[in-house]
Amino acid sequence: MILNKPYVISAIEKTTRDVTTFTFKAQDATSIDFSPGMFAMLTHVDAATGQKISRAFSIANCPPSGELQFFISMIGGQLTSKLAAAKVGDIYLVSAPYGQFKLDPNFSEKLLFLAGGTGLAPFFSMLKYIIATGKKPDIELIYSVKYPYDIIEQKELEAMVEQLGGRLTVTVTRPADGDGWTGNKGRVDAALIGKCAPDVKERVSYICGPPEFVKALKSALVSLGVSEKEIKAEMWG
Ligand SMILES: Cc1cc2nc3c(=O)[nH]c(=O)nc-3n(C[C@H](O)[C@H](O)[C@H](O)COP(=O)(O)OP(=O)(O)OC[C@H]3O[C@@H](n4cnc5c(N)ncnc54)[C@H](O)[C@@H]3O)c2cc1C
Repeated sequence: MILNKPYVISAIEKTTRDVTTFTFKAQDATSIDFSPGMFAMLTHVDAATGQKISRAFSIANCPPSGELQFFISMIGGQLTSKLAAAKVGDIYLVSAPYGQFKLDPNFSEKLLFLAGGTGLAPFFSMLKYIIATGKKPDIELIYSVKYPYDIIEQKELEAMVEQLGGRLTVTVTRPADGDGWTGNKGRVDAALIGKCAPDVKERVSYICGPPEFVKALKSALVSLGVSEKEIKAEMWG
């Protein structure tokens, strides 16, 4: 566990129209361990006033690591506006790891990952971690985005799922004429889950995304016979 340790921004990449990937490196180059799915508290300290703003972000990279990668929706709020003006080399304070939403180290042979928006981040970490273990569980990942251009790190995501022999279903909730999207349209619901994972009751289900997404998908899983207490979920909005 680290508390308010200085981390330097080592990379800033605009991943989608609204999401930027930030990579932070421990200033003292030490590595931390965490379970895939956990989050870090990132703190901006105002150089002039010393005022601090802290927010939670799910870690998107593979543990253990001297780096922490986050997919951050740039909504122009208190911390995200600081990040919008950030440059490589800037220092933030990091406390980590936190959270109960984590991949079981003895993860099941059959997994169902349900991601909404930047809720993809913990699954990115899980996929990287699973690849590093050399195991090949049966993974069904259903990922909901508003627009086709919202898919985060699409190439890397597709490559990881393919490497694991899993299946990725992306659904676009706000398709528009001329957007070129020919895949699934509409929200994730029981019908889509049932189609992608008819064996849903045999899978360990993880959900991450906005509160309404998590709530709706918990109900959908329960309607498909999954026990609510077996569902692992994390929400933010
Ligand atoms: C466990 C956990 C993990 C998280 N992981 C991530 C992550 O991986 N990536 C990530 O981007 N965020 C993540 N968050 C959310 C993050 O902590 C912040 O809440 C978010 O970045 C906004 O902080 P802010 O200071 O910029 O906004 P604030 O100044 O705190 O303002 C937030 C307000 O903005 C409004 N708002 C929320 N979403 C939007 C939106 N999409 N567009 C416009 N307005 C909006 C809401 O009304 C909210 O009250 C996570 C939160 C938790 C609790």
